[in-house]
Amino acid sequence: MDYALQRRALLAEVYSGRVGTMEVCDASPYLLRAAKFHGQPTDVQCPVCRKEPLTLVSWIYGDELKHASGSARAPEELAKLANLYEEFTVYAVEVCRTCSWNHLVQSYVLGTRGLRSGKPRRRTVAE
Ligand SMILES: [Zn+2]
Repeated sequence: MDYALQRRALLAEVYSGRVGTMEVCDASPYLLRAAKFHGQPTDVQCPVCRKEPLTLVSWIYGDELKHASGSARAPEELAKLANLYEEFTVYAVEVCRTCSWNHLVQSYVLGTRGLRSGKPRRRTVAE
């Protein structure tokens, strides 16, 4: 799922002054820490402060992951985990480490189930 539309709408509100930057630049210390240690640098400049490129943080969720569910992972780790587990969901959040702007940009499913069937989202009763 792509959240680009939502993001554009929110930014339009910010630029027009209808939404304050205090409201959208609210990355928690936990998210900022995750960006520092597990983030992936992007070429996209922060849309709010324009002072630095955004960092992409990937959070993983899934029953199979057990204690790892809800943690942030670097891209290399995502690739490894995708071979270990049948299915888990990744939520990619962009973060600005300067002004704390943050927004969900994408969510997708990874895992071996998707590799085998080629259709990661489809399930039949037989499974
Ligand atoms: Zn910023």
